[in-house]
Amino acid sequence: MFWNKDIETIGRKALEDLQLKKLSKALKDAASTPFYNKVFKDNKVNVDRITSLDHLKDLPLTSKADLRLSYPDGMVAVPRREIVRMHASSGTTGKSTVIFYTAKDIAEWADLIARSMVATGTTPDDVFQNMMGYGLFTGGLGLHYGAERLGCMVIPSSSGNSLKQIQLMQDFKTSVIHITPSYALHLAEVVAGQGVRPPDLGVKKAYLGAEPYSEETRNKLEEQWGLDAYNSYGLSEMNGPGVAFECEKKSGMHLWEDFYLFEIIDPDTCERLPDGEEGELVITHINREAMPIIRYRTRDLTRVIPEPCPCGRTHRRIERIKGRTDDMLIVGGVNVFPSQIESVLMKVPEVGNNYQIVLDRHENLDRLHVRVELYSKMFSGDMKELNRLKERLSEELRALITVNPRIELLEPGSLPPSTGKAVRVIDNRKI
Ligand code: ADP
Ligand code: ZN
Repeated sequence: MFWNKDIETIGRKALEDLQLKKLSKALKDAASTPFYNKVFKDNKVNVDRITSLDHLKDLPLTSKADLRLSYPDGMVAVPRREIVRMHASSGTTGKSTVIFYTAKDIAEWADLIARSMVATGTTPDDVFQNMMGYGLFTGGLGLHYGAERLGCMVIPSSSGNSLKQIQLMQDFKTSVIHITPSYALHLAEVVAGQGVRPPDLGVKKAYLGAEPYSEETRNKLEEQWGLDAYNSYGLSEMNGPGVAFECEKKSGMHLWEDFYLFEIIDPDTCERLPDGEEGELVITHINREAMPIIRYRTRDLTRVIPEPCPCGRTHRRIERIKGRTDDMLIVGGVNVFPSQIESVLMKVPEVGNNYQIVLDRHENLDRLHVRVELYSKMFSGDMKELNRLKERLSEELRALITVNPRIELLEPGSLPPSTGKAVRVIDNRKI
């Protein structure tokens, strides 16, 4: 099923022609903003000389710090009266940044979300419950407009208030949900606590995004809820959700290349990497009037999947995000991503739905402490069984990350639940 078959299956040559046309306009718009006007001057960039997509790599990169520097409107390319909306990033890594949209930007973003939802088989017959925060965060209103554009009945329930969420699902026969993976894990527990099996709620699909998670967590959630889960990627700097989305094949996310030019770079040297190699995703927004952003360093690590997708869409896919460059933990000199720890925990059947990673330093040595909730039935057995499990978890973790973790097994509900983006890592090391 396609939303706009022509654009979704467009041939490479036609796509590149379109991209170049849009890039030229985006660069001209950018040059009219105080921020890029200065950056282009400082770097001797003449936008009229960008006549091929290949020239993109010669343009300067834009970072989150640049957005903060140009706060609030140094990157705005249209008069104030043409702006109809603003959003802000969640501020996971510091002061949040603001993004502006014209009416056309909002309409085209909604269209892109509708395209993404149709790629997973959603239709106007679906009832869509949006459990992402409404407000400045893009996950709420972003999907909301897209789902309405597609024609779904939208329940704008926002995040939290779990009992109400369950009631809405039951009363209105919700078939598609949008939720963070950490909240989906928590909500499954709340549902079970009400004496209801999550699959009996009848939800068919979940769009999971806004935070990194592992393939094992997807599998676990699909099993617990009895649904198909699709990975959804976006960031406020690039509108919000709808940048890249999985299709029905569930094997990597199509990054919508008629809106975004993407590159993978080595985060240290900033050189472009060949297709298939893992690195930092850099995106240029070529489809936004209010605020063009050129070569934005997302800090998200992924790789391109060069093979064509059997669904017929020609927009290239990216792999599940491994984490952010700034999520990487250095423990005793070893690089560890929280998603690696998660992938080990979530495939162990005894492990429940929440965990936490705590780092501290004792006598100049880093210590990694993994706190894991188990299902309650595990605590009715004997201590020996728990000790064996502890041993097994620590061995499996050590085998993957080469760091020796201390494991703490907890009863369900011991750790703070997440209703939005989870905070999984507590770093108490102060140097
Ligand atoms: P903030 O940067 O303050 O968290 P955003 O709300 O814009 O603000 O969050 C965007 C970020 O969320 C992305 O850059 C990425 O790190 C993360 N993210 C979004 N979707 C996914 C996903 N499907 N998988 C992994 N990470 C994701
Ligand atoms: Zn596909």
